[in-house]
Amino acid sequence: MTGVFSLLPDGRPGLLGPLPSGARPSAAGGEDASRYLAAGGYAPLPAPDRMLDLIAAAGLRGRGGAGFPAAVKLRAVRDAPGRAVVVANGEEGEPGSVKDRWLLRHRPHAVLDGLRLAAAMTGAERGCVYLSDAPAERAVRRALAECPADLCIDVVRTEHAYVAGEESAVVRRIDGGPALPRAKPPRPFESGVGGAPTLVANVETLARVARMHAHPEAADAVAGAHLVTLSGTSRTRAETDTGGATALAEVPAGTRLKVLADLCGHGAADSVLLGGLFGGLHGAGWTDLPLDHDRLSAAGGALGCGALHFLHPRDCPVAVATEAAAYLAAQSARQCGVCVSGTGALAAALASVARGEADAETTGKLHRWSRQLPGRGACGLLDAAARIVATLLAHFPDRVDGHRGSACPACAGAAPEDGRRFTVPVP
Ligand code: SF4
Repeated sequence: MTGVFSLLPDGRPGLLGPLPSGARPSAAGGEDASRYLAAGGYAPLPAPDRMLDLIAAAGLRGRGGAGFPAAVKLRAVRDAPGRAVVVANGEEGEPGSVKDRWLLRHRPHAVLDGLRLAAAMTGAERGCVYLSDAPAERAVRRALAECPADLCIDVVRTEHAYVAGEESAVVRRIDGGPALPRAKPPRPFESGVGGAPTLVANVETLARVARMHAHPEAADAVAGAHLVTLSGTSRTRAETDTGGATALAEVPAGTRLKVLADLCGHGAADSVLLGGLFGGLHGAGWTDLPLDHDRLSAAGGALGCGALHFLHPRDCPVAVATEAAAYLAAQSARQCGVCVSGTGALAAALASVARGEADAETTGKLHRWSRQLPGRGACGLLDAAARIVATLLAHFPDRVDGHRGSACPACAGAAPEDGRRFTVPVP
């Protein structure tokens, strides 16, 4: 089952609509300015402080992965010395996420409206849309031609890569350099594009700001809803490799993960990979977890960009972890020595577990590395690899031990570096 769904109560303003609940948008997709204006978009600019207070009171958190409070980030850019720059970040590096590309292709005016509002709140006169997807670029350029925003907006294209959407990589690329993370501090809000204080905001975050401005009476609900990309293994490996049984859905805050699995035909799943590759593997009890940053963090996971990959009983979590670690090792930007050696060592050790060749010393090293490596790279890639390992060991100890001395059939051929298992097509 592949499609676009809304689980928001009827009448609640969402980003996939206006659509009846459960309906799919037209194949043509997109929105023109007249449709967007008729739906309340590009409303007169609010007083910046009032809009910031609305965002803070509604508790909007960034949707790029870290879940940082949006109002805090906006205020930090506003208060930094210098003329600010605002960036709509549409480069989603997680292979299992499609929400940002979908929004740019189908809702470019919502993103541009959010960028206009972010500029008003931070005092910026210059904006930028940062992306790698060619259809998204065409949709954004079309929308820019009819966008009434009083803001100079550039489009900057990058190569797609896991780390290309990290905020310091975004700044480097816009400044003409490689799309690679840099050491922090300074953070972009202190010194970003051209040295100016810079807001790098995920495109879903900006689209939600625009919806909140158009519907302040529903600000809490808009801030709490999430776009989620749902995928998983399907009946055959070939289907899985082509993104079978995937969905993009908009769901209210707190929706249980089991509901999401059922929604996209993965009701038989018995475990889940959270946050794209960032939130780790989760087994027993995962079905009752709610879609909530804090609750998922408390469970040792992370919501990240809202991508969930469901595993079925016939799947082997060791094979999934091995493929995820191999992909992350291949995607390392090879700037930080600890990341190059750390992700490589994690991937190699997991591959030996998958082949049935690992001994107690190997699993001991995996335990140790998964505790020692987080936080030591310039970006979150190393943390993601370490969390995959930590959660595999914590939640599936019997499955790991079961590989002692012999590989399971599901692990045969595990560890392709291309992330094929996790890649989802844009619906
Ligand atoms: S942690 Fe890894 S991916 Fe991130 S900047 Fe350093 S080398 Fe690159």
